[in-house]
Amino acid sequence: MHQDISEILFSEEHIKAKVQELGKQITEDFQGKHLLLLGTLKGAVPFIADLARAIDMPLELDYMAISSYGNSTQSSGIVRILKDLEGPIDNKHILIIEDIIDSGLTLSYLVDVIRRRNPLSLSICTLLYKERKRMKEVPVNYIGFTIPDKFVVGYGLDYAQYYRNLPYVGILKPSVYEGESEPEQQHASPAE
Ligand code: 5GP
Ligand code: MG
Ligand code: MG
Repeated sequence: MHQDISEILFSEEHIKAKVQELGKQITEDFQGKHLLLLGTLKGAVPFIADLARAIDMPLELDYMAISSYGNSTQSSGIVRILKDLEGPIDNKHILIIEDIIDSGLTLSYLVDVIRRRNPLSLSICTLLYKERKRMKEVPVNYIGFTIPDKFVVGYGLDYAQYYRNLPYVGILKPSVYEGESEPEQQHASPAE
């Protein structure tokens, strides 16, 4: 285990089993439909890659990157699109793939943007769902794991761009970010 991790929440094997389960469910639910997986950069990248291969039907894959502005204590919900989808989606069923849902502000903005483009349907899948009071409630269709309100890294999730390559999801030792503002409350950088 990495020295900066206090506890592994989900091992590589544990994540793999969950991703297979989600993939099977999504395959059943979208059978025969024109599905576009909308991956959010960068944190969801390993999840998207594994989940897409666990879905046994034809599908399209595209990505969006969004950045969220705010002060050091709170996400403002004012969001900018850094990278957009390549084409129109009005003839497609959209499944947004997220790494983690925390306050819900970033996702809620993304949902508004996508809805205005009139997809045939819009669903949301997240690997991790934090147990906390959300500032914006967004209905989530597929949840990998519910987690306590702790700052986690690994399997795509970063702190200051590091730890994304850890194969598991673990709790980051607070000593790593002590002296800085709480990492889960930093929203000046892209919401990933
Ligand atoms: P929110 O839902 O608060 O608008 O922002 C969600 C984004 O905050 C996530 O996509 C992720 O980039 C970041 N985030 C929230 N909680 C965590 C966490 O526990 N660990 C990491 N690495 N990022 C987090
Ligand atoms: Mg991040
Ligand atoms: Mg995200």
